[in-house]
Amino acid sequence: MTFRAVRADKTEAGQVVQLVDMDDSELMDGDVTIRVTHSTVNYKDGLALSGKSPVIRRFPMVLGVDLAGIVESSRRSDFTPGDEVILTGYGLSEIHFGGYAERARVNGDWLVKLPTGLTRAEAMAIGTAGFTAMLALMAIERHDLTPSLGPALVTGAAGGVGSTAISLFADKGWRVIASTGRKSEAAYLKTLGADEIIDRATLSAPGKPLGKEHWAAAVDSVGSTTLANVLAQTRYGGAVAACGLAGGMDLPASVAPFILRGVSLLGIDSVQCPAARRLEAWRRLALDLDRDKLATMTRTIPLAQVFEAGARILKGETRGRLVVTIP
Ligand code: NDP
Repeated sequence: MTFRAVRADKTEAGQVVQLVDMDDSELMDGDVTIRVTHSTVNYKDGLALSGKSPVIRRFPMVLGVDLAGIVESSRRSDFTPGDEVILTGYGLSEIHFGGYAERARVNGDWLVKLPTGLTRAEAMAIGTAGFTAMLALMAIERHDLTPSLGPALVTGAAGGVGSTAISLFADKGWRVIASTGRKSEAAYLKTLGADEIIDRATLSAPGKPLGKEHWAAAVDSVGSTTLANVLAQTRYGGAVAACGLAGGMDLPASVAPFILRGVSLLGIDSVQCPAARRLEAWRRLALDLDRDKLATMTRTIPLAQVFEAGARILKGETRGRLVVTIP
């Protein structure tokens, strides 16, 4: 059986990514075969599509870090044909064929059954970015932080992780401060639940080791100097969930917030997140995430448009989440 896929190949001229026809014999090893119906465009997909960043670790590679679909065949007892499933991370688009294809064969240990109350399209509107935002909220909660201790800052606010984090934190009663480089998105961010908008430029220039105490919690998608400044302005005993590197991978910070204010830096990884926490995050997303807000932050595109969307996400030009329908 042949199917359409967005595949990266290594050629003498370098990496080439294109829409190609593949057939079942080319699928990778796995015990569950899925008819993929939806995928997404995350920042990491933008990097893989661009070919400039070493996301892909084996060639050829089918791109797409997320997928949702219907089980076609299974060699396991816990998945049967017709089951609706989602898969995020676990090396999709890095070492295992990903979601930009009509078919996928994967290790069933990586799959999550579609939680009750979510459609496949909604699950992909959440995708890796929304899942990561929920992991950040859960990390902040495990740290015993509550809205009564002060506001929560969200950086990279108009992006995928940022938009979902604003919605989740606001609906849990947090006063949310949204940091964005796009003033034009203020109304959008307020619709999601932001109480205050700040210009990201206030956090991007090198600052003092300790600043005025502003927020009790933060979700950071930006990294680098921004993360250093976020730490320096976190209230005594607060915590920052570090999710991303949209502004850079370095961290030019001092230890002052840690040793003088007991601030904690919480690492968030969605790719290898253990199964129990993964299931809990999806259960909570299905229960807690406001569907109207999710619809507001989501745009749907066909598979052929991922190339353009990938370039735009790297330039910080996309808003919220992009769902990809697979033909
Ligand atoms: P998006 O591109 O959707 O969002 C990133 C946002 O960051 C942009 O919308 C923009 O927001 C802001 N931004 C972009 N460039 C810069 C810059 N140079 N300086 C400061 N801010 C900038 O990406 P995602 O939300 O999908 O991912 C966000 C980050 O999180 C990425 O680095 C991604 O790799 C990482 N990530 C990590 C995961 C994990 O497991 N830890 C999982 C998912 C994502 P605005 O315009 O509002 O300023």
